[in-house]
Amino acid sequence: MGVDYHRAVDAPRLTVAVTIDHDAISDSVRRGDPPVKVSHGEFGPRVGAKRLLEMLARRGIPATFFVPGHTLTTFTDDTDAILAGGHELGCHGWFHEDFAELAGEQARDVLGRSVEAVRAVTGATPAGFRAPYWSLGSETLELVEAAGFVYDSSLMADDYHLYRVRHGDRHSTAAGTEWGAPGRLVEAPVYWAMDDWPHFEPGPGRSGLSTPSAVLEIWTEELRYAHEHAPGGLVMITIHPECIGRGHRMAMLERFVDAASRLDGVVFETLGAVVGRWAATNP
Ligand SMILES: [Zn+2]
Repeated sequence: MGVDYHRAVDAPRLTVAVTIDHDAISDSVRRGDPPVKVSHGEFGPRVGAKRLLEMLARRGIPATFFVPGHTLTTFTDDTDAILAGGHELGCHGWFHEDFAELAGEQARDVLGRSVEAVRAVTGATPAGFRAPYWSLGSETLELVEAAGFVYDSSLMADDYHLYRVRHGDRHSTAAGTEWGAPGRLVEAPVYWAMDDWPHFEPGPGRSGLSTPSAVLEIWTEELRYAHEHAPGGLVMITIHPECIGRGHRMAMLERFVDAASRLDGVVFETLGAVVGRWAATNP
């Protein structure tokens, strides 16, 4: 019988991580968006985040909030409520920057300011980073590791299992692929189908505005598959208060939580808790 190298000692049968990107109006401020676009973002702190925090408290679910510095310092009631609820706070840029467009010094500056903003309210260095738009430059994750983060949550090379981020991969049509070496940074992988935004929000090349039952089917099938085939694994959803916070989508989210709660051995945890357990048994 083989050894399951993916499974951490004492890991639950399946962990569900609710991750919330609280972008609010940070992106609109940076782009200088018109009023309707700004108001779309404002729905997040005004309505969506309140609904989410109430639901998480009522069900006793700890979540991971990735919050841009602008949101953290502008909507301080939400910042206080996130911390009072016992949730994890991770970094998500300042004005929701696209890190693929930032030079090294700019990226270092945004990372440093974001870390300080979290430290100012929690008293501790944040463990987690998620790139806005999941967009990274070729060197961004080396800077993230150098800034002291324990984990990133922006890549897609796995689904139910954590892994170490490689640095120094080289790909070219002339020489092919040379793999780099794994660093210290742990990856908690993401995927579009498990994100509310591409399903529900209109955007270039898509209509969005999906019926919630279609998304519920995708998310619950991921749960069932991982529960059966990936013992010790992680199912993560990425949600946004300005998107999931609409009534018909909150109802869907409650059904997803119901489905997870009905499966044997499923626990809800923050990414920081999952990563901490995994890293302790995967040095
Ligand atoms: Zn975001």
